[in-house]
Amino acid sequence: MRVVYSDRVNAPVQGYSPSAAKPALVMAAWQSRWPELIVRPPVPVNRSDLIRAHDADFVDGILDLRIANGFGTKNRDVVDSLIYTSGALLTAATWALIAKAAVAAPVSGFHHASWDEAADFCTFNGLMVTALALQAKHPGMRVGILDYDYHYGNGTVDILEQLKCADVVHLTAGEQWHLEAQAQDFLANIDEDLKRLSACDIVLYQAGADPHLDDPLGGFLTTDQLAYRDECVFDGLRTLGVAVAWVLAGGYQQPIDKVVDIHVNTMAAAIRSSRR
Ligand SMILES: [Zn+2]
Repeated sequence: MRVVYSDRVNAPVQGYSPSAAKPALVMAAWQSRWPELIVRPPVPVNRSDLIRAHDADFVDGILDLRIANGFGTKNRDVVDSLIYTSGALLTAATWALIAKAAVAAPVSGFHHASWDEAADFCTFNGLMVTALALQAKHPGMRVGILDYDYHYGNGTVDILEQLKCADVVHLTAGEQWHLEAQAQDFLANIDEDLKRLSACDIVLYQAGADPHLDDPLGGFLTTDQLAYRDECVFDGLRTLGVAVAWVLAGGYQQPIDKVVDIHVNTMAAAIRSSRR
């Protein structure tokens, strides 16, 4: 039986997720520590990009405020942000291919958004919107999705199955790695995962913070083990010559500074790797 772990939070207010506050905080922390970082504005995606990965009626229903978004609301501000959050990952991927390097987008990959349904704070699946936009622009491009969030990427799996999409390699750690006793095996298995991605032109890496031991919705890796995870991913993919666009994904510790610190560690790993 497949156990599906969800990012659902016992939120005090309907539609609340700490993730929505993260991008600004993470950017401030990154820029404070590395003022030399080059920051580029996200190029928004459009309806055509969205309907490559999603049912057209679902996309229109969300954009027209007839269908509730991943926060369970029909809030115009949330919907207006969606073309930028998916656009941020596509923009990062575009620059990663140009620079042949790891480029970050300070957003989630929204892996619970399925082909025709929003769920668990995810409305449009930025990972799949980006993968399919890249393949539309570059026919034959091999795209990998390495999802190291704590939770199973059920939305991504659903879209791949609905579209019978065989040319995207998708690995989601939430399928099998959850227990503290599995931590060493998970870390030892990263090389195997990277081998499966070695033929890709680009990997979209979902560097979730919620596998942290102290996360209320996660819990099996220490701070050092998370940093080692990221080091293995960035060093491994750089050695293989595979471009990387990476995103934040989940993280629910309070205060949120604890989550921001994990994303700072991921950026540190990316920068260290680029200098080797
Ligand atoms: Zn998660």
